[in-house]
Amino acid sequence: LPEDFKEALPVLEKIEQAGFEAYFVGGSVRDHILGLPIHDVDIATSAYPEEIKHIFKRTIDTGIQHGTVTVLLNDSSYEITTFRTESGYQDFRRPDKVTFVRSLEDDLKRRDFTINALAVDRNGNVIDKFDGLKDLDNHLIKAVGKAEERFHEDALRMMRAVRFQAQLNFTVEEQTAQAIADNAPLLSKIAIERVREEFVKLLLSHSWQTGFAEFLKLHLSDYCPGFKDQRMELAELLESSKDKYFVDEEEAWSAIGYALTLNQGEFNHFLRDWKVSNKTREMSVNTLNMVHLFEVGDYDLWNIYKLGLDNFSRALSLCKMLQVFFDYDALTQKVEQISIKSSHDLKITGKDICQILNVKPGPIIGKSMSQIERAVVEGNVYNNFEELSHYLLSNQ
Ligand code: ATP
Ligand code: MG
Repeated sequence: LPEDFKEALPVLEKIEQAGFEAYFVGGSVRDHILGLPIHDVDIATSAYPEEIKHIFKRTIDTGIQHGTVTVLLNDSSYEITTFRTESGYQDFRRPDKVTFVRSLEDDLKRRDFTINALAVDRNGNVIDKFDGLKDLDNHLIKAVGKAEERFHEDALRMMRAVRFQAQLNFTVEEQTAQAIADNAPLLSKIAIERVREEFVKLLLSHSWQTGFAEFLKLHLSDYCPGFKDQRMELAELLESSKDKYFVDEEEAWSAIGYALTLNQGEFNHFLRDWKVSNKTREMSVNTLNMVHLFEVGDYDLWNIYKLGLDNFSRALSLCKMLQVFFDYDALTQKVEQISIKSSHDLKITGKDICQILNVKPGPIIGKSMSQIERAVVEGNVYNNFEELSHYLLSNQ
């Protein structure tokens, strides 16, 4: 057993001592068998939530209606979920009814893919009811049971398939892929936040190109905001981006905005449709604007500064990917010499300006401030009080 599992063993043992079953399940089992780092250890049990709360002193009702209780033991916390089946899928979304059951097999059966439907007991034995080990070996993402039915129950699973493809560099098994191609329109039933979460995970994966190519090939893209009939344009990203992966979500969105040739207004609108956070939206829009500057040969420091210096290295990285060539190092050197991040870093205040110019507060202050800010950014004056005062007086 890997360390993360060993640490959690006392939890399994206590549950078993109370007469119930408990197993490691889900992504952690898959990742352990693949030799990948494990992030969260999920535990599934035949004990009902109330029974778990009896067994352990300190618990939190994390998602009790779905059967999940967090157990606090030895300075660690563990999510323990009761075996369950799901029913009453309405509108191709999540189930509205979960039923607690005592059988592990029933619990594994409701899981999305065979590679995610493995369990490990406390002795390290793998419980493999759906040939998940074989599919792990063959690098296949295959639905548990009939793919078509599984995607009708929860259409998000189609996005999860291509997301796991990107993360693991696996292939979507043929019948599963066919069922996605046949049912792709169901994706439009899913809340955009859930689709986005999977899509962003896909884009930030090491093998994002394979997952993205499949996302296009199976027409999932046609049912995502702003992607309808844009498969050719989006596929161009794959051409130019060999071996390149995105450093953050903002870089990925900017690359997509570029591929779709969106102007600022359209790109803003597009990102709002995907319901990305305001911060991510602003950073992505400014990054793409910066790329557009460099593309037309505008390396003006003031323009770059106004779009946010924090976006500069991302914009450069994107230019490399999109094959927008210029002397990256020379520009980087110039940008690194900009001594302020914002007007707050200026060594002069509005009050100082009033005194120096002997004027009352008014629009002139803001104007003078921007003038000074620009001069500092362009390297025409040092950012210290003496120099700035002098600059102010001689540029009246
Ligand atoms: P990650 O590494 O992203 O956490 P994961 O496989 O652990 O991957 P989770 O979303 O954390 O994915 O879900 C945990 C487990 O719950 C999955 O391995 C799978 O067995 C099951 N699961 C999650 N979402 C679904 C779904 N929409 N339909 C069916 N089973 C699901
Ligand atoms: Mg997980």
